[in-house]
Amino acid sequence: MALSEEEARLRRLARMKAWRASHAKEKREYQRAWNAAHRKEKQEYNRRWYASHGPVVGQECNGERARRYHVENKEKKNAASRAHYYANREKMMEQSRQWKLEHPEEWRAMSRDASRLRRARRRAVGWERIKAADIFERDGWRCQICGCETLREWEADNVWSPELDHIIPLARGGPHTRANTQLLCRRCNAHKAAKLPYKHTSWVENVERGRS
Ligand SMILES: [Zn+2]
Repeated sequence: MALSEEEARLRRLARMKAWRASHAKEKREYQRAWNAAHRKEKQEYNRRWYASHGPVVGQECNGERARRYHVENKEKKNAASRAHYYANREKMMEQSRQWKLEHPEEWRAMSRDASRLRRARRRAVGWERIKAADIFERDGWRCQICGCETLREWEADNVWSPELDHIIPLARGGPHTRANTQLLCRRCNAHKAAKLPYKHTSWVENVERGRS
């Protein structure tokens, strides 16, 4: 019985697919070897291709396309990730429990960053996503009032614990931004409380007298 052209084509495709599946490893290795041997040629080819296809392609490859896709499909993506979460809820909760157990310090730092952000957003002042650790790094792990070197990790009941301070407190309308945050030791932070604007109060004068 003669096959129709369409049937023959489909069979050919199926055969090729099966072959590819059974030779996937060989093909990958071959490709890798080929790439290694032809690196220069390939770079040159790519360069020419990008040059002749203009800046549009270049821009699109700069993550621009991904960003645009994210903006345009935000709702869809959120819905999909929500659906994925609920479908795999048990597994994901177990994974995150496990992660928290294995990374207690990171988890605490993340929770603190998140709750600061929630507070700032609730108060509807300016905010940006901030990692306390970045601010501490910026301030050189030194308290911006007394100049002492703080611990690298927050410890309850330790006055040298690093704390993220809002220079103008959130309570007074200060924004949750890099510019409005600084590292204070727990001792200075406790004394600063919600004084505004911060100036050389008796506390700072005492500290400075003690240091000299
Ligand atoms: Zn201090």
